[in-house]
Amino acid sequence: MRLMEEKILAEGKILPGQILKVGSFLNQRIDTDLLAKIGQEIARLYDGEGVTKVLTIESSGIAIAAAAGMAMGVPVVFAKKHKSSNVDGEVYTASVHSYTHNTDYTIVVSCDYLRPEDKVLLVDDFLANGKALMGLAELVAKAGATLVGAAIAIEKGFQGGGDALRAQGIRVESLAILDSMDDNGITFRPQ
Ligand code: 5GP
Repeated sequence: MRLMEEKILAEGKILPGQILKVGSFLNQRIDTDLLAKIGQEIARLYDGEGVTKVLTIESSGIAIAAAAGMAMGVPVVFAKKHKSSNVDGEVYTASVHSYTHNTDYTIVVSCDYLRPEDKVLLVDDFLANGKALMGLAELVAKAGATLVGAAIAIEKGFQGGGDALRAQGIRVESLAILDSMDDNGITFRPQ
């Protein structure tokens, strides 16, 4: 998605630890025109796949997931993050290692909101090592639902998570894929 690449080049900031900061248009202030276009592009990519639910993780995935869900006309579910895995009730859980915070946390979703008959599209803002998506895929599997694929705003291709998931047969669509990010700037994988 050319617009996403242009926005990253114009406003993205490279932080230590190979973190890309996009607070000015995606993670803190949200460019709502871009957000609507992200939702439409995700809906276009997965048109005809019979998606019944979009699943993401709080908090930075929610806006993008909501835009995708609105464009597709399906509900959005977000997994909650808990520091401990002692969660009561009828929930599915999975453990995720956080790339940005270098800690482990548990993601939790109510069994009421993810059903065996669902065809689920995973959505997130970033894809780095793939741990967040793997945790979400685990929730889908625990619910006995069908994983249709994943849609990501920005994939850091050089960290390998996206290609590892593709190698497992999971469809992963990223609106921008960074091939490199360093003092010389940012390069994108041709799409
Ligand atoms: P992964 O689990 O694929 O290693 O990392 C993806 C998660 O970490 C995303 O949910 C995202 O919130 C966060 N993340 C990973 N890399 C970045 C980055 O460069 N910038 C920002 N803002 N978040 C990132």
